[in-house]
Amino acid sequence: MENFVVSARKYRPQHFSTVVGQAHITTTLKNAILQNHLAHAFLFCGPRGVGKTTCARILAKTINCEKLGKDGEACDKCNSCQSFNKGASFNIHELDAASNNSVDDIRELIEQVRFAPQAGKYKIYIIDEVHMLSASAFNAFLKTLEEPPAHAIFILATTEKHKILPTILSRCQIFDFKRITPADIVAYLEEIVSKEKITAENAAMQLIAQKSDGCMRDALSILDKIVSFTNGQLTYASTLEHLNVLDEEYFFQFFELLQKEDLPGVLSLYDEIDQKGFEGDTVLNHFSSFFRNMLVSKDARSIALLQVVEAFTEKYNATANQVSIPYIIGALNILNEAEIGFKQARNKKLHVEFHLIRLTYLQQAVNIQPDETAGKKKRLDELKPIAFKHIGFAVQKEKKVERQQKSPSIEGSPTAKLEIDNAIIQDKLPVQLPNEPVAEKPKEAGALKKIREQILHRKLEPLASKTLTQDMLNEAWNMYLSRLLDQNQVTSHHNLKTAITTVINEVQFDVFVGSRIQQQFIESEKTHLLIHIQEYFNNPKIQLKISLDPAAEKEPVQTEQTLSQRDQYLRMIERYPLVKEMRDQLNLDLDY
Ligand SMILES: [Zn+2]
Repeated sequence: MENFVVSARKYRPQHFSTVVGQAHITTTLKNAILQNHLAHAFLFCGPRGVGKTTCARILAKTINCEKLGKDGEACDKCNSCQSFNKGASFNIHELDAASNNSVDDIRELIEQVRFAPQAGKYKIYIIDEVHMLSASAFNAFLKTLEEPPAHAIFILATTEKHKILPTILSRCQIFDFKRITPADIVAYLEEIVSKEKITAENAAMQLIAQKSDGCMRDALSILDKIVSFTNGQLTYASTLEHLNVLDEEYFFQFFELLQKEDLPGVLSLYDEIDQKGFEGDTVLNHFSSFFRNMLVSKDARSIALLQVVEAFTEKYNATANQVSIPYIIGALNILNEAEIGFKQARNKKLHVEFHLIRLTYLQQAVNIQPDETAGKKKRLDELKPIAFKHIGFAVQKEKKVERQQKSPSIEGSPTAKLEIDNAIIQDKLPVQLPNEPVAEKPKEAGALKKIREQILHRKLEPLASKTLTQDMLNEAWNMYLSRLLDQNQVTSHHNLKTAITTVINEVQFDVFVGSRIQQQFIESEKTHLLIHIQEYFNNPKIQLKISLDPAAEKEPVQTEQTLSQRDQYLRMIERYPLVKEMRDQLNLDLDY
């Protein structure tokens, strides 16, 4: 084992046929060579470590081979091939654009392009990471790319095709390299371990293939590391440990505990993983993959997407049948939220634990969901009206005290305290003192007062209904008007006073108004007005209709903007009586 060479270099493919997972490219290249239809510029795109540079080198070697095979492969025996294999050929030039991306670097390369090769047919220029070239370097290169000498072939390689200028793209034959499939990687690793006489469990190699994410170079370097780390005994467990990968088995355990809603078990298992030094987000991420794999296992059509070590495929299939798709999606949602919030969480462990708790009781949430409407109905049925108690007296008392305290006439005077006390004492008495003038009665909030009045009124009315006549309507109307005056509702009073009432029949009367604004006013007053009229006549069937006086309709329609500031104020207090109350209590003067 002492002479173990880095696999990536030792097993770098030397022929098109040994390139892994890019058959669509190697076949095309071989055909182009055989038919002598070679382009002068190629663009190799694709993820890192999938064989772009390897293919470029094989291409360079093959087109310079003196005894090209009928299958389009290099002979490996001629002088050219030998020098390529030793890495001593002068016909290949590699430029790493990531570190040499200036105009000067490109100019140097262009200088060399002019000279024909001393031996062999072609000079190959490989520019790696070509998207890193500066804009001016690109421009300098463009002309050479447009009219290259017959002996020059350019191979541009990039991981980021979208960064390549369209002018370059249009001059190149483009090859898209694929990510190498785990199966291809595993097959290749198996080939290597058998050649190197290494004992390796298949599961271990699958794990490496997964971890390398389609990048053969990574897979080989991981293999190298683990081989030296385990002294040539590649087991699943040692690979897990070395790769710092969480064992899939943990998540099956988690899953079992979740099914039993065994919260202590879940938290202890997480603690065990935490003790091993795995970060919380790794656990969350892996758990998400677990549920994702579970989801794809549920259907035969998606099962090909299962990305797990083969040994677990069966287990996934069996477990996936135990749960519903809503449950899996619910779990994925929770884990996704957990991952998003992980960075911000101050206490990472608690954050993960919190979401594990949510997962533990997820089954209950999934079960409840279909019955949601039934639950709502039940809640509605349980609703009961809120109990209330009569608070009128207390309100009255508070208001009185407040009013007297804030009255500037007595503020600071020696009698103030006495008067306030007196007010409280008065309020404590069950009846009002006879000498208190009615006008000075503190005003209740308008709405409250109206309700109180209505209730009182109802009780006092005799039971028999009165006939609706014009005279009696006028009387009832005037009563309402004087009540409005009592309540200081000047605008309403004015609007109602100028309206004309006409009895239509026993249960119907019309109210004619002079303008639309007046109509709106009375409409807003209608409910109270109608209650008053119905009570007056003791007939709940009585209805009223507010219409615009036909004569007035011809008048231009007044808009609200024409109201003076005073009218605006009056309308405001009409609508919000508390405003007036506030004004009265604070003794404010208004600037109309
Ligand atoms: Zn050869």
